[in-house]
Amino acid sequence: MTMIINGKEIAQKLRDSLKNEINKLKNTYGKVPGLAVVQVGNVVASSVYVKAKTKSAKEVGIEVIDHHIDEKTSQDQLLKLIDELNKQNNVNGILVQLPLPNHINEQVILDSIDPDKDADGFHPLNVGKLSIANKNDENLLIPCTPYGCLIMLQDIGIDLVGKNAVVVGRSNIVGKPMAQLLVKESCTVTIAHSKTKDLMDVCKNADILVAAVGKPKMIKGDWIKKGGVVIDVGINRIEVNINGEIKNKLVGDVDYEEAEKNASAITPVPGGVGPMTIACLLRNTTIAFKNSC
Ligand code: NDP
Repeated sequence: MTMIINGKEIAQKLRDSLKNEINKLKNTYGKVPGLAVVQVGNVVASSVYVKAKTKSAKEVGIEVIDHHIDEKTSQDQLLKLIDELNKQNNVNGILVQLPLPNHINEQVILDSIDPDKDADGFHPLNVGKLSIANKNDENLLIPCTPYGCLIMLQDIGIDLVGKNAVVVGRSNIVGKPMAQLLVKESCTVTIAHSKTKDLMDVCKNADILVAAVGKPKMIKGDWIKKGGVVIDVGINRIEVNINGEIKNKLVGDVDYEEAEKNASAITPVPGGVGPMTIACLLRNTTIAFKNSC
């Protein structure tokens, strides 16, 4: 029978353990981790993510320092704010919610965050550290979504050593760091992308398939190896006709209903990778706090 990997439950376990740890840190140091959340403008999806991240952070005992600023804020003004947050002792993690308005260069902003306060793990220094660090290094700030995927694989007890892993997608925030993490676990990793030839055959070879593409249901059931494990990072909103009524539905990059027939374990969308991403943001903030003590 196919195991449905419950991201909500696994994320809850991680949050519970962080809450415990933060409580102990508070007793030891008399203070708690602080997370500065910077949102520029009012993109609806960003507001939803910021609200969810803020709520989860507060629940585990992290102090949230909220900076919701005007859409017309200039790049220089935003850089000035980041500079101030970099210097503030009560701020251990800085999260700049993406996307930023078009007049602001995202990479310039991400690069300006103190690498020690890089709650998302996107700073080039942390990207480099991820590439060279030992897999047991617990001080690393690792991009949240791929780290959440790895925790899910570990939680279901799968032996990763020597497994063929295929990561579809090579973005800096998901695909590439995911591949790094799987290499560290001694998987044999293939990174596929939009120019990959015979993608179906590449996927069919995967003991572990991670899909991070952004194309609804692109990966079909017969692309999945019998007994393979499927981690679906994709979040795509599609319209479906339910009894004559058009409704929005969230689906992944994998055709779940078909893939479930071949996979030994699979993440649902929603309720799979999504909750893990937020929990790992809280983990990074806690690590940044501990590193600063
Ligand atoms: P990007 O758009 O940055 O990257 C998509 C990748 O998919 C690219 O490397 C692209 O290849 C590849 N790709 C596009 N089309 C194809 C194709 N037809 N065949 C093979 N590869 C293809 O996306 P992200 O990595 O930021 O996000 C991917 C998905 O994950 C999205 O649905 C996003 O919403 C979701 N997501 C979910 C998160 C969560 O918490 N669950 C967090 C972050 C993202 P190329 O490089 O050649 O263009």
